[in-house]
Amino acid sequence: MSAGDVQPLAGMSDLCAPEIFLWQRVEDTCRQLFHRYGFTEIRTPLLERLSVFTRAIGEGTDVVQKEMYTLQDRGGREIALRPEGTAGVMRYVAGGGPERAEARLYYLGPMFRAERPQAGRRRQFHQIGAESLGPPSPAADAECIALLTHLLRDLGVSGFNLQINTRGLPEDRAAVAAALRAALGPQRSALCEDCQRRYETNPLRILDCKQAECRAIVKALPPISDHMAAETRAYLAGVLRLLKRLDISAQINPFLVRGLDYYIHTVWEITHPALGAQDALAGGGRYRMEVGGRTLDGVGFAIGMERLLLAMEAAGARPDDSAARPRVWLVAAGAAQTEDLLVLLQILRRHGINAGMDLSGRSLKAQMRAAHRAGAPWVVIRGDAEAAKGVYLLKDMTGGAQTEVELPELLRRLTAP
Ligand code: AMP
Repeated sequence: MSAGDVQPLAGMSDLCAPEIFLWQRVEDTCRQLFHRYGFTEIRTPLLERLSVFTRAIGEGTDVVQKEMYTLQDRGGREIALRPEGTAGVMRYVAGGGPERAEARLYYLGPMFRAERPQAGRRRQFHQIGAESLGPPSPAADAECIALLTHLLRDLGVSGFNLQINTRGLPEDRAAVAAALRAALGPQRSALCEDCQRRYETNPLRILDCKQAECRAIVKALPPISDHMAAETRAYLAGVLRLLKRLDISAQINPFLVRGLDYYIHTVWEITHPALGAQDALAGGGRYRMEVGGRTLDGVGFAIGMERLLLAMEAAGARPDDSAARPRVWLVAAGAAQTEDLLVLLQILRRHGINAGMDLSGRSLKAQMRAAHRAGAPWVVIRGDAEAAKGVYLLKDMTGGAQTEVELPELLRRLTAP
């Protein structure tokens, strides 16, 4: 194995201590809050048939065209690593009875996109997502945004920016595309190469382009909602009114479209100033998909966990390993004691006490060094003399005091707060 072989693939990371303690805190906080809002967890497979994604996300999207890890299994079937969570959840919903069409589901886990790795952009990254199935309603969309902002606040993230827009209904699309072509037509040759193609295939995508020349042109366009039906505009107004009543500040961004094809009505994105160039922290919206012969309606969001952690760290959050630290370290003064102490170790752990011990038969000095390294507030030392008396020497590592105690007293002291 060369030195490079012990590194993970580019754009992928090992998640371990100390950062893992912050990840776990995020996961615990999310689970609690999702349950308060009536959501239950779903863990869909990381691999799905390729068609699960191409149909739901849209053939013409960047995610499908450029970013998916696709492969053939041994039977020659086209499969893909999930680039996002919604498509798999919808496959699950479509595979069940009518009750699933009103399901409230959340997920936490890795997603995979073959992007060029850079700060804030990984090839394996993690998302926290929620899907609230059910027919379109401004109240359901507002509740979903309320859940997302509640979650960010519970995690100590503030100073974020919520932008919102409408994608309209499928019926609005032809009018929007025609209006965009009419407005962009005279400036078509000034658009980037991709957008000149998008002009024909899907002019809405031009609004999403990150190229400076395209952004300058887009900025001067009228809002796309101007070309939508009155009902669509009333829907967006309803969502905005409810957000106001819920004390959630949102800005209308008339050019926000989000990259995926399945959205209708409300779409939103949350950015955070601590994130640098890749400042999107979370995104979401209402969607409608045809899956397995059924039409599924829902609203949902996904938060990027790596970016969430950056925003939390900017607000001062630090990993806390206290729940994983040993409360007591056992030290055998004499090889004969190791066996008895292994038995004690298990008794302590069965009583709910975090306990550790060096099991490799090292010297007393080396064991004491290990106890210091472990940072346990208590150490139990046992030599032949203590064994003969049926006691343990309990050392308070902060004050330095040592007392001989029998097992019941040892348990009492170690379980005291
Ligand atoms: P999207 O569905 O693409 O809007 O993704 C939702 C969220 O996931 C984004 O707002 C980001 O926080 C995060 N995200 C998306 N792609 C990546 C990536 N390649 N690396 C890290 N985070 C990502």
